[in-house]
Amino acid sequence: MENKRVLEVKENLKKDLKKNITLNELNDLKVKYLGKKGIITELNSEIKNIPNEEKKEFGMKVNELRKTFNEFYDSEKERLNQEELNKRLESEAVDISLPATKVSMGSPNILEKVIEEVEEVFMSMGYDVVDGPEIELDKYNFEMLNIPKGHPARDAQDTFYIEGEEILLRSQTSPVQVRTMLKGEGKVPIRMICPGKTYRRDDDDASHSHQFMQIEGLLVDKDISLSDLKGTMDVLFKRLFGKNVETRFRPSYYQFTEPSVEVDITCVNCHGEGCNVCKHTGWVTVVGAGVVHPNVLRMSGYDPQVWSGFAFGFGAERLAMMKYDINDIRTFYNTDLREVSTFDREDEE
Ligand SMILES: [Zn+2]
Repeated sequence: MENKRVLEVKENLKKDLKKNITLNELNDLKVKYLGKKGIITELNSEIKNIPNEEKKEFGMKVNELRKTFNEFYDSEKERLNQEELNKRLESEAVDISLPATKVSMGSPNILEKVIEEVEEVFMSMGYDVVDGPEIELDKYNFEMLNIPKGHPARDAQDTFYIEGEEILLRSQTSPVQVRTMLKGEGKVPIRMICPGKTYRRDDDDASHSHQFMQIEGLLVDKDISLSDLKGTMDVLFKRLFGKNVETRFRPSYYQFTEPSVEVDITCVNCHGEGCNVCKHTGWVTVVGAGVVHPNVLRMSGYDPQVWSGFAFGFGAERLAMMKYDINDIRTFYNTDLREVSTFDREDEE
């Protein structure tokens, strides 16, 4: 009797799981089979009526059905996401420079761990981890990044000036990129990331801090395009959050990249299904990035006719929050290390 029901469901699955369906059709199927009153869900609940000696086999068969469905679901979902992304990449012509997601200092343990992980991912792709001064010259923090004196983009970064208008606490880690390019003297390819403290005149509150950790990266070589950036972001976030995580680009504007994009990843909390964390979009913005502006290359001694590159930047705190399921930034500020250490968990695959 039960076996017959299992076979029936299996036959129906075969008929229903047709490839190249729409997102709505896919979601309907999920409800039909795995929803609260879904066919597989109900089948599973029948296990209590099964004679003991048959329970194990029955359970295995139901699990197989679930697995068949999930594999189908994952592969269709991935295909649909990819299609959407390709559409966007084609249709969205874009704009300029580096971002700085403003987030605050949290537990050094978790932050350091996340930063180390990011460093490892990039080192495995041949990047160097570079450091630079926190007290900077205006020239490196702004001017050579295509943000001349009096430019409105400076207002967005309320900067701590130390001496006149020339010496400041860096408001972004980008000056390290400039310094690295200057060292390269326009001759060698560059692959670097720079994690470091940055400072803004922000009032501290639940989502702002006058000091935060930024991780920026720069690649300068020949024939570098937006698709290289896309590939790199894919590698990073799949390594950090699991292979099912997708990335997408949305157009943005920064001073020192052209075009510029914001990078979204599938919400780690709901796996793209939609939840409060992602405001029911299934996506969360994590990175600002783009193709390095020709002016920036030129000012640092790289001929834009020969060289091209991409740059990206993000807040380490934000990644740490996502990685360790910290939904409330105030939890993250908690200095009770016993509590913070409970966020230590195995990575999801
Ligand atoms: Zn979500």
